[in-house]
Amino acid sequence: MLIWSCTTPLLSPGAAAGRTLRVNVYPVDGYGRVGGVSTPEPPRRPPSGALSAKMSTLARQDTAPEMALRRELHRRGLRFRVQMKVPGNNRRTIDIAFTRARLAVYVDGCFWHGCPQHHHQPRSNPEWWRWKIERNQARDRDTNRELMQAGWQVLRVWEHAPVPDAADLVENTRSRILDSGPAEGSEP
Ligand SMILES: [Zn+2]
Repeated sequence: MLIWSCTTPLLSPGAAAGRTLRVNVYPVDGYGRVGGVSTPEPPRRPPSGALSAKMSTLARQDTAPEMALRRELHRRGLRFRVQMKVPGNNRRTIDIAFTRARLAVYVDGCFWHGCPQHHHQPRSNPEWWRWKIERNQARDRDTNRELMQAGWQVLRVWEHAPVPDAADLVENTRSRILDSGPAEGSEP
């Protein structure tokens, strides 16, 4: 269940149609159970050298859009923590964490997180890839749930979102949370 799923209100007028942000701010409670996490891994043939190289490139590129957003947020005077541990779960981290607002921001890679606009399933091992991406998505939902239970709100943007638009959204969401009153026990 979403508080809101937004493609327009907070964006700059320059945002072109079709380049929608993926924006889900999740409520603190009411989020559904995660399904599919325990689905067994389908068999797969090992990826060829070319695909293997492509995969590692994709994994590296995952972080470039996040870096760009961090730079822009920093330029705007916003301060945040990066790769902060999810409260109560040492194995997961928050890409960009605003501790006072208790706002967790993730920049999700189009390939690994299954962006409906850009995710293309590799031709070999389609079943395995479907399983892999669905597992990543289930993990995202699970992380959202853990954060919400810890009193955080979660904002996820696709890596394809234009950086200024994503930064506007983060900035506005943070302001809105802070304007509505500080969370109890939050850090200064
Ligand atoms: Zn995308």
